[in-house]
Amino acid sequence: MDSQVEQTPHEKHVFPPSPEFRDAAVAGPDLYAAASTDRVGFWADQARELLHWHTPFSRTLDWTNPPVAKWFDDGELNVAYNCLDRHVESGNGERIALYWEGEPGDSRAITYAELTADVKRAANVLTELGVEAGDRVAIYLPMIPEAIVAMLAVARLGAAHSVVFGGFSADSLRARIDDAGAKLVITADGGWRKGKVSALKPAVDAALEPRGDLPAQDTVTNVLVVRRGENEVGWVEGRDIWWHDAMAAAEPEHQPLAFPAENPLFILYTSGTTGKPKGILHTSGGYLTQVAFTHRNVFDLRPESDVYWCTADVGWVTGHSYVAYGPLANGATQVLYEGTPDTPHSGRWWEIIEKYRVTILYTAPTAIRSFMKLGRQIPERFDLSSLRLLGSVGEPINPEAWLWYRHVIGADRTPIVDTWWQTETGAIMISALPGVTEAKPGSAQVPLPGISVDVVDDAGTSVGQGDGLLVVTEPWPSMLRGIWGDEERFRETYWSTFGDRYFAGDGARIDEDGDIWLLGRVDDVMNVSGHRLSTAEIESALVAHHFTAEAAVVGASDDTTGQAVVAFVIIKESQKADAEATDVAAELRSHVAKQIGAIARPRDIYVVAELPKTRSGKIMRRLLRDLAEGREIGDTTTLADTQVMRIIGDKVVR
Ligand code: ATP
Ligand code: MG
Repeated sequence: MDSQVEQTPHEKHVFPPSPEFRDAAVAGPDLYAAASTDRVGFWADQARELLHWHTPFSRTLDWTNPPVAKWFDDGELNVAYNCLDRHVESGNGERIALYWEGEPGDSRAITYAELTADVKRAANVLTELGVEAGDRVAIYLPMIPEAIVAMLAVARLGAAHSVVFGGFSADSLRARIDDAGAKLVITADGGWRKGKVSALKPAVDAALEPRGDLPAQDTVTNVLVVRRGENEVGWVEGRDIWWHDAMAAAEPEHQPLAFPAENPLFILYTSGTTGKPKGILHTSGGYLTQVAFTHRNVFDLRPESDVYWCTADVGWVTGHSYVAYGPLANGATQVLYEGTPDTPHSGRWWEIIEKYRVTILYTAPTAIRSFMKLGRQIPERFDLSSLRLLGSVGEPINPEAWLWYRHVIGADRTPIVDTWWQTETGAIMISALPGVTEAKPGSAQVPLPGISVDVVDDAGTSVGQGDGLLVVTEPWPSMLRGIWGDEERFRETYWSTFGDRYFAGDGARIDEDGDIWLLGRVDDVMNVSGHRLSTAEIESALVAHHFTAEAAVVGASDDTTGQAVVAFVIIKESQKADAEATDVAAELRSHVAKQIGAIARPRDIYVVAELPKTRSGKIMRRLLRDLAEGREIGDTTTLADTQVMRIIGDKVVR
């Protein structure tokens, strides 16, 4: 391992697919060939092959009015029919769609036939409550099967959902309900988190009541409440309805109607890592095409035999594309887990993998690093031999974490796909294909077939090889169609920088093999004595040191260098004693200088117990920058733990 952990973006170390994996792989090099011959035609083929169209499309792409693309726009389909009924009709109704695992250990196995029946009833319930095509429904639920049922029932009616992560407060919920103009809220009494019931209904009640300067919420007419936590809840007669009562009373049959491909499917707010969340709008046909395509090919999916598990909450885009829509469109069997990774014990995830013989695991670097921090002896207690593919999403994965993931979780056997994408892109854009690409730890590598990206300088010129800004140069099927209710912000944020090329907001490097490395957000890029430095690269160097479990790097203004590198690090449990006997800051500073160069040497290093993260687990560097520069801390509404900034602040004595 030792030579491997020294790897930085400048070094080369690749893991080719094994011959067995390659020979049996779902996706081969022919996909790249087909897409490069006729990119738009390639997507038309995927749309026809992967989906059922009630009315076939004749126009594939209309890009005459950028930045709003129309894909397959004279075609019609029903998204829920594609995710459910057609699998039942083709004889796969008895296949398990969801292995649901509740946090307290209760579980349910739900077949495609059962899930279809539930969604039909739920669609009838929503119709009774007045939900029609074009309406918006807010969903505020824990990770229970009803979350999936609710999303698909809304989609079945041609309405749009806005899923709000269950950890958000009444204020955040209110803002999202207002922004979308939701007619209905679907929630639960509560859900299980960290060994106890965490109530949800009170936040909904509070969100709908007058708040501060806001009058009572006036677009929501009903609240549907799933019973899960069995906790006492307040009740507004005439407005609130128990889900189970309504479902029992509903008609079981429901005929899905066909809706235009560009019918809105959902609004979803970004994580808010860099600022105020944006209400991203996605539509139906193009979105479903690209999530089905990527889910099948990036994860090498065999629906008849795989057990797939994506650990993301349905409140995030990963939970939309790779829990709800991609896997179900492909008829996959998947695990859905309600709770936290450490309840009731820190091996819970590995226990679930062992129990269901999970074959494909898709998770985030923040989770991997937290398992590394605890040590390999925990996963080693479980049988993880069913795993055959691992995926990562959400942040750059440091080579050190990549190697640990493959070695400890994947037994040095499984390919790893590092998938770059965003709420805005709707589906994976940059990733290895596991049977084709030689995997390079830390690099997201290559655009998928049918996707065109580039790395450009500030003037928009291709850098060829080197550092710059990531852009998507051609429209793609699952691209956002706008920011809900804010066309100006949509144009300004993504399209004002490089015309009709999409500006992703991430810095990137193209190496000598043409592989792409994500360097961190443009908002976080540091400029030290005229050199642009990457947060991801310095963090990876810090994490490659045996002391460090996690690191966050920011640029703070500095009188001599313009900006200086300031690092916040968490020490591994197993290294705490050694670290205490050492001058950690000096050791890590010289380590970074050795790995990257003296220019990247942090001016300050703070050893901390936690890092500020969004509720989706991403590091919020802008708050650390506020701290490092002695400013008042900015907007923390999407922070997972609001205490954390105070605790870190105590370390930074200025
Ligand atoms: P906001 O846009 O509100 O600041 P956010 O960007 O965190 O929030 P998401 O859409 O959830 O919201 O995250 C997308 C971002 O996550 C990407 O722009 C990128 O910075 C990062 N990201 C996702 N996957 C990867 C990956 N595999 N490698 C590197 N970075 C990634
Ligand atoms: Mg973003």
